[in-house]
Amino acid sequence: MIHTRLLHTSRSVLKPATMSARALELKENYTNIHNKALALNPSVRLVAVSKYKPASDILDLYNAGVRHFGENYVQELVGKAHELPKDIQWHFIGGLQTGKCKDLAKEIPNLYAVETIDNLKKCKKLDSVRKTVEGAQKINIYLQVNTSGESQKSGFIYDNLAELEETVDFLLSGECTMLNFEGLMTIGSFEASTSGEENQDFKRLVELKSKLDTKYKLDLLLSMGMSNDFEEAIRQGSTSVRVGSSIFGSRPPK
Ligand SMILES: *Cc1c(COP(=O)(O)O)cnc(C)c1O
Repeated sequence: MIHTRLLHTSRSVLKPATMSARALELKENYTNIHNKALALNPSVRLVAVSKYKPASDILDLYNAGVRHFGENYVQELVGKAHELPKDIQWHFIGGLQTGKCKDLAKEIPNLYAVETIDNLKKCKKLDSVRKTVEGAQKINIYLQVNTSGESQKSGFIYDNLAELEETVDFLLSGECTMLNFEGLMTIGSFEASTSGEENQDFKRLVELKSKLDTKYKLDLLLSMGMSNDFEEAIRQGSTSVRVGSSIFGSRPPK
């Protein structure tokens, strides 16, 4: 009993000198990406995407000072959030079904953001459930925009803004008290991110931000850029990048 408790305690107070090889590797990978990102924009946020990776990996980075983590699957996120420190700022970045909004809003008081909102209904659901959770923090909402026009990508349609603006109107209304409209998110097409030129999908999101900022008097955050294109994304104006495999290593195929 005492032995177990000692093991648990020592885990969370690991000093650099006693770090495991994995903890050192993760810290080095994170620092490397973070430095590259900060060199392009000193105030950019790096979200460590930990889907499929064990809670111990997240804890290793947590002990190195990292707080923003991204997850793609509701059940996996709920499990990790229950197990891990309560000051982690969780980002949900996966495809979201309306039926799962309840779990996200209810089970994770320290849910920082849902980055993949693509309709009004999901906002209403998150807000109404969040109102019933005692001590929960407001959820930051990023509207996902399908900037590449690919049919397999979710998100608001880029060139039909009526639906998106209806959602913005709700988010900014007095009725919506537990959500904070913080930004826009996109996943660029593979082609656009490997062309080696200016990414047209990122450019579309930047243009949309500019329109919305003017119309609603906002300064929206831009979540764009992953392992293979985060530097280009920052050059084009991204203020929050989501990086997984360059930090944690490759994932098992789905
Ligand atoms: C998995 C995932 C990432 C991280 O991708 P990497 O290429 O591993 O950096 C970023 N954003 C979203 C939406 C993801 O699903």
